[in-house]
Order: sequence, then C-alpha cells, then structure tokens
Amino acid sequence: MTKNSPYPNLFQPFELGFCTLKNRFIMGSMHTRLEAEANGFERMAAFYRERAEGQAGLIVTGGFAPNPEGVLGPGCGKLTTQEEVAEHRKVTNAVHEAGGVICLQVLHPGRYSRLDYAFAPSAIRSPISKVTPKAMTEEEIEKTIQDFANCATLARDAGYDGVEIMGSEGYLLNQFTTRHVNQRTDDWGGSIENRLRFPLEIVRRSRKAVGEDFIIIYRLSMIDLVEDGNTREEVIFQGKEVEKAGATLINSGIGWHEARIPTIGQMVPRAAFVDVIGAVKQNLSIPVVATNRINTPEVAEGILAKGLADFVSMARPFLADAAFVRKAAEDKADEINTCIACNEACLDYIFTEQPASCLVNPRACYETEIQIAPAEEIKKIAVVGAGPAGLAYAITAAERGHKVTLFESGSEIGGQLNLAVKIPGKEEFHETIRYYGKMLEKHGVDVRLNSRAEAGELISGNYVEVVLSTGVKARVPEIPGIDHGMVLSYEDVIAGKKKIGPRVAVIGAGGIGFDVAEYLTTPEGPAESQNIDAFFGAWGVDKDVKNAGGLTKPVPEKISREVYLLQRKTTAHGKGLGRSTGWIHRLTLQKRGIHMLGGVTYRKVDDKGLHITTDGEDRLLEVDSIVVCAGQESNRDLYNALSKAGVSATLIGGAEEASELDARRAIDFGTRLATAI
Ligand code: NAP
Ligand code: SF4
Repeated sequence: MTKNSPYPNLFQPFELGFCTLKNRFIMGSMHTRLEAEANGFERMAAFYRERAEGQAGLIVTGGFAPNPEGVLGPGCGKLTTQEEVAEHRKVTNAVHEAGGVICLQVLHPGRYSRLDYAFAPSAIRSPISKVTPKAMTEEEIEKTIQDFANCATLARDAGYDGVEIMGSEGYLLNQFTTRHVNQRTDDWGGSIENRLRFPLEIVRRSRKAVGEDFIIIYRLSMIDLVEDGNTREEVIFQGKEVEKAGATLINSGIGWHEARIPTIGQMVPRAAFVDVIGAVKQNLSIPVVATNRINTPEVAEGILAKGLADFVSMARPFLADAAFVRKAAEDKADEINTCIACNEACLDYIFTEQPASCLVNPRACYETEIQIAPAEEIKKIAVVGAGPAGLAYAITAAERGHKVTLFESGSEIGGQLNLAVKIPGKEEFHETIRYYGKMLEKHGVDVRLNSRAEAGELISGNYVEVVLSTGVKARVPEIPGIDHGMVLSYEDVIAGKKKIGPRVAVIGAGGIGFDVAEYLTTPEGPAESQNIDAFFGAWGVDKDVKNAGGLTKPVPEKISREVYLLQRKTTAHGKGLGRSTGWIHRLTLQKRGIHMLGGVTYRKVDDKGLHITTDGEDRLLEVDSIVVCAGQESNRDLYNALSKAGVSATLIGGAEEASELDARRAIDFGTRLATAI
C-alpha cells in the first residue's frame, strides 16, 4: 500500500488467530471448468498462482462436490478421494509458493444438477432444470452431511487453508433453508430451525473434522429473490446460528440462479446489494463479506468505509485482471482491466460446457497457453483501426517491445465500443476503452487519431507487419424503398445523430436489434443502470426483505414509444443472445410491450410505413422511423487496395469475420496474434 493510499480500509490485514489475511480482498468462487480439461489442474494452478502473485488476500476456488452424486454436471469437479487430493495439491502448492491463502468451495447443486438425476429436500423441479429431483431420505441427508465433513478433511489434506460451504444461490443447502423447495414434514423441514438443521449440521461436523485452525466460510443467501424465500429476520437468524456452529466468515449470496431478477449482469448498478448485506451484518458479530457488482477499488473501499462489510469478494474482476489488488496497492487503479459484467466469456462459456475465460482478458484460464513474452526481434508494425481487435493487438505487441503505430480515422479509440457505451446498462464498456487508452500510453504506442491510413502511406512507411482492424460496414438489406428518409442506420440512432419518431420498426433482432429496442424504450430520467432505487423498482426488489424472498411488485415503467422488433426467422426472439443475460433482455423488452414479430418478409418501405408479410398475411406497420440492424459486412477496402499493390496485410476483428463481430472474439484474436509476432 502506498503512503497516502486512497484505500486504507482495503489494505488493513485481518488476523484470524491461526492465519493472517494480508488485505480485505477475497477472490470469490468462480467455476472455471478447467478440471474437465486435459492438464486441468496444471492450468488451474497457473490461473490461481497469478492471482496470488497479484496479492489477492484470500482465494476461493470454484465449486467442488463432496460426493460423486453431487457434481454440478458431467465432468465437473469433486474432492472425494486421495487421488484427487494429489491433483488439488498442484493448486495449493502454487498459491502458497506465491504467498497466497486459498479455500476450496464445497458445493452440492441439489436440484440444479445438470446430471440426469438430482436430489433435493422435496421433489420439486426448478424452472431452470431438466429433471425433477428425488426427495432425499433421512439416510441420504445423513450421508451427505458426512460427505461434506469428509470433503473438508480432504481439503485440509490437499493443503487448502479452509473451505467455503456453499449455502446460497439456490444450491442444495439453500434449498433446505427455504419453504420454496423444502416442503418436508419431518425434522428437516417446517420451522426455520428444522430447515436450517441440514446446513448447520454440515458446518458443525466440518468444524469438528478439521479442527479450529482452518477457515470455514459459509455462503449465506442474504436475499433469495424467489417466491417463498426467507425474510430478513430469517436470514439474520441463520447468520447467528451459522456463527455458533463454528464458521469463521460469512460470505454473501444474492438471489437464486432461477430468480428472474438480474443480480450480476451489466445492467445491475454497481454495489446494488451492499445495503442488503450491511443490514444483516449489523446484527452479527462474525465478519461478513460483501459481493455482487463490485468491480473497482473505489467501490470496494466505499463499502468498507461505510461499515457495510469487513471484506469484499470479487470473482469476475480477478478473471479480468489477475493483478487487480497489486495495482490498487501501488495506487495504479487506472491500469486495472475492469470486469464489465458482460458474462460473455465466463458464465456463458461455463453454461455451454467450455472452460471460463474473460472477454477483456483472453489469458484468463489460458495462462499456460497465451504468454506475453518479450519479442526476440523488434519489429515496426502498423495497426489500422482502434476497435477492440486493433487495440488488443497494438497493446500486446507493444508490451512485447515492438514499435507499433496505431492509425484511427475517428477522433477517439474504441470503435464499436463507443456505440456499446451508449446503450443503457452497457456503460461499463467505458472502462475497457479507458484501460486500452492507458495501456497504449504505458507501452508507448504511437497513436494517430483522425488519421485515415492509405495504402501509399503504409507502403512507404516500411512497416514489417501491417495489421488491418478496419471493422465493418452495416449491412443494407435489399428492400424496395430502403433509401426512404425514415430508414436509419443503427449507428446514427445510437450515436444520437437522428431524430426518432414515437412509432419505430427495427429490422433485425440480433444483439444490436435488441440493444436498439432497449435504447429506444428506456424511460427518461436517471438510467436504471446508475440508480439502485430505480433498478429495484423496475425489477420488484424489496430491499428491506420484509416480504418473503425480498420480492415486491415491480413499478411499471413509463414507455413513450411503440416499437416493433422484426426478424425473418421463426425461432424465438433473442435465441442467439448470451445464455446468462439473454433472458434479461427478453424480459425487459416484454415488460416494455415491444412487439416481437418473427417469420417476417419485408415487402417495401413508403410514406405510409413498412409493408411486411407475416403468417401469410400482408401488414402495414404505420411507423415514423425504421432502424436497420441487419448485421454487418467486413470492411476490406484498404486490404483490397494493399493487395492490388502487392502488399500483404493481416486482417483481424470484424474486418476478418463480420458475422462473428463481437468484442470477445476480436480481443482474443488480436491478443493471440500479437503474442506470436
Ligand atoms: P446479428 O446478431 O448477426 O443479427 C443481425 C440480424 O439481422 C439477424 O438476426 C438477422 O435476422 C437479420 N438479418 C441479417 N441479414 C438480413 C437481411 N439481409 N435483411 C434483413 N434482416 C437481416 O448482428 P448484430 O445484431 O449486428 O450483432 C452483431 C454482433 O454483435 C453479434 O454477433 C453479437 O455477438 C454482438 N452483440 C451482442 C449483443 C448481446 O449479446 N447482447 C449485443 C450487441 C452486439 P433474420 O435473418 O432472422 O432476419
Ligand atoms: Fe467480467 Fe465479462 Fe470478463 Fe466475465 S467475461 S469476467 S463478466 S469482463
């Protein structure tokens, strides 16, 4: 920590009696799925080692099952045997060598299992699961308690400094604690005391098994956000009992996975739930950890300064930047690569059975594969286009020592990211642009803004490598009347360059069509994404948790536009959106009364509006504006000009593959290519 650190609370050590945590940053649990990959534990060791070197105070692994029937899904991790202990030692050794402290998260998914069978307190299927779980017998309950305690013992054998017992997010323990799924009539259901019996017995038995000098974190659901969830009073009761049962720390969980309220997406205001956590903490003496949408040291410090928690836990921000804590300690917060809460390469990958990574940091979970080593031969490189692909390439090549000149025809860096930041709820992309700006400066890239690179200049500049990140051109569909004055491009609309009428048709319902529909219907006034009360109102969150589960009636939004979102496909709208966030966008548009029409044939545009056919019926949409969001085509004008002159160049980003235009792919591609030059 620097002498006048802006984060005095975050860098206070914490004495546990048997172990000292060097600061108040916890790298929260995030399932990486690496254990299912070849050399998974070596990769995991490299991943956690970098975070320990980056000075995370305490690391919690992704969830590991305490028994074979409790794995999250096929191939997912468990710790049940001595052979597995040996694998886990690779991870704990790596973290300890780097001076870190690490706990294993023990997680049983209960009815959220992705196997073709599942267990739960009662045989009630979750809305996000394929199978109806089997109600556990008393013998199965007893065995599972013992399995948790055995797993804690094995974790100790494997060199972990503690365990986190996963009691939130709607997993098995949480299923027992609420009436929502626990409808048992024996000693394990009914009153809050009975519903708590299962998790408390797990904590007690684990404590007994591992002794006093071992961390036990209990992850407690502070607000369930499901019907028949617990009230604040019941949450506080649980916290007190967990403390008595022998936990060292209470970590916070917010909302079940099946909750229909966003809790970690980009549209959730930063630190939205910390008051909910603080209200519980006030009633407990055990240290409490705050979570959810904490992504900068400033926000984290504010939480501790207000006394709302004793620690902050961040999971995704440590994927985005392994050195988050070290940079904060050195007072270099402007060098932090901020997690923008997009979920596109972390949760969305896990949900599609791939290892996690990070949109803004493709090295996350690929530490052994992508290495940014000093270049053997320094080269003079021209990069054209300062969108995500060009930026990623330029900073990586420059960090390796190459002499990089970056040409950008616009007046600022960021490319399509500059459009993304204008979409309500996507403002976090500003952080990515800020980070790239700082890295260009730090690594000495010669940035030429307002500079449209021409073939002649690139040829005469004697560059050894020319890399073209010239982006895309919006596709203009062939519809009679498409050049009518009421037809607008999505770029002009999002940039605020054109006036839009009260009735709008959006052609194309991909990611950008959804963004535009959301943009056009966001109510006036403070955006939900910056205003916690507005966000809670719109989504029906009772922050005082007086109602069961913390649910209340949403406040209807005042929508002043009628919008049609159109596609030619007959599949459900938004099917291609991210797994973890697509439902939020669909629900938002449904709540705003947007007309979603599929199977559309576009016939013509004229003064009356947009003429279409759906379900064999001709219709006229009497709209004032039509916004085209029909995808993109690669912009290869410069590439073609260079080719004509016999000069070879490398295409990256949207210029290379327009149909895959997305920031994740662009940054990954740009980074990897620059590590090999
Ligand atoms: P997109 O996802 O490819 O969607 C373009 C839409 O336009 C398609 O759904 C297609 O639907 C329609 N279309 C294509 N050709 C057409 C034609 N000739 N005439 C009429 N309609 C046509 O492209 P995008 O919306 O521009 O998004 C680009 C990329 O940005 C995506 O790949 C995505 O990764 C990323 N992005 C994602 C998000 C997000 O996930 N929230 C948000 C913004 C951007 P039909 O063929 O069915 O009509
Ligand atoms: Fe954060 Fe997005 Fe990276 Fe996930 S993919 S860690 S949400 S920036």
